[in-house]
Amino acid sequence: MSIMVPSKTPALITPGRQALDSALHQLDQAAEQLGLDDGLRTMLATPRRSLTVSVPIRRENGRLDVVQGFRVQHNVSRGPAKGGLRFHPDTDIHEVTALAMWMTWKCALVGIPYGGAKGGVAVDPSTLTERERERMTRRYVNEVMPLIGPEQDIPAPDVGTDAQTMAWIMDTYSVHTGFPVPGVVTGKPKTLGGSHGRMSATSRGVQIAALAALGRSPAGSTVAVQGFGKVGGPAAQFLADAGCKVVAVSDATGAVYARGGLDIPALAAYAAEAGGVRGFREADALTHDELLELDVDILVPAALEGAITEANAPRIRARLIVEGANGPTTPEADEILTANGTTVVPDILANAGGVIVSYLEWVQNLQAYSWSAEEVERKLRELMLEAFAEVKSVAAERGLTLRQAAHVIGVGRVVEAHQLRGLYP
Ligand code: NAD
Repeated sequence: MSIMVPSKTPALITPGRQALDSALHQLDQAAEQLGLDDGLRTMLATPRRSLTVSVPIRRENGRLDVVQGFRVQHNVSRGPAKGGLRFHPDTDIHEVTALAMWMTWKCALVGIPYGGAKGGVAVDPSTLTERERERMTRRYVNEVMPLIGPEQDIPAPDVGTDAQTMAWIMDTYSVHTGFPVPGVVTGKPKTLGGSHGRMSATSRGVQIAALAALGRSPAGSTVAVQGFGKVGGPAAQFLADAGCKVVAVSDATGAVYARGGLDIPALAAYAAEAGGVRGFREADALTHDELLELDVDILVPAALEGAITEANAPRIRARLIVEGANGPTTPEADEILTANGTTVVPDILANAGGVIVSYLEWVQNLQAYSWSAEEVERKLRELMLEAFAEVKSVAAERGLTLRQAAHVIGVGRVVEAHQLRGLYP
């Protein structure tokens, strides 16, 4: 038997701990604005439930590996817990807690009746065969079974997981209950009750937020996208569709640049074949850092947390940053960007399209009904634009950044729900 350890030797302060520190800092700023007392601040800073589990995986060669899994429900004052499931070697309880907290504020900000949750398994899914991934997913579900359910906590795809992962979760849960429960997960394949538009919902929301923040015709605006996965890939395409020139894209393998604009469908086809964007012939190679520092109108970080830090923030030249990823900008970087006049559309607003359509999928599942693609997109657009306008107006009223304003609204709504419900006992 062997225990799979995170890919890098854990540093004293892990990326996960840094993400949690960022989330707590943002909460503190909102608490200050809202005049919350220490007790309430502590309650909001503390997850309601956290579960750490061991997940044994039987490998194809007969060996037994054990990985750690997590599920955190941060707050359920406004509704059942909702949040993605991440498979990544560096994930830890701190990162999952930060991501769960951001989900709480995000759901409140866009006005959907959910609390915040997140899950993770500390594994590199690319090192597993499909059968191993399936066995691991099913065992993880078995271990977190006491927490999840359509009225309790509803997972969805995140980094390293996809619609197939959701299908395995739905099946495992349903086998345990003895009847099909499609509403236990969102981001499922369409055949199993998935919603039209869910696969590209986060990216569609990023496009809507980017165009709203740009406030002028997008034609010819230059864009760089960090991360070419489920969020970054379609976001690059949607921004190109809107008339922007996507000049650079990166993924874990490297970054590519074309001054005249990348052919996104050709790049996507190449990346699917070659396993990444690196080596795409119709473009020049860039380093990961160079992509972030390009002189573009819009930068979309759509990979992981901590991409923009105090180290590179002074060199960021994008006028507008639209956070497809969760937590890509540290609080120190935020201050530098604000001082330099860069507008940042924060994660809890910019990438909320995913959870909005997850909510629509869940409602359809509970009603055993299916809406058209047009209906789903119309509702998504309405909720995104409503939240965007509200954040902009609170920011202007209170003299805050868009991130601070988004947190004031999100945290404020959770506090209101908590106060109406009161404290038991
Ligand atoms: P994914 O696994 O589909 O894609 C991640 C992408 O990032 C991959 O292309 C990967 O190669 C790339 N990447 C990793 N390290 C990189 C690096 N150092 N530089 C450049 N690229 C790098 O994951 P995803 O679902 O697209 O999620 C991306 C981000 O968006 C995460 O922060 C996630 O929490 C957030 N998010 C996702 C959703 C969703 O619906 N999937 C919703 C809201 C927010």
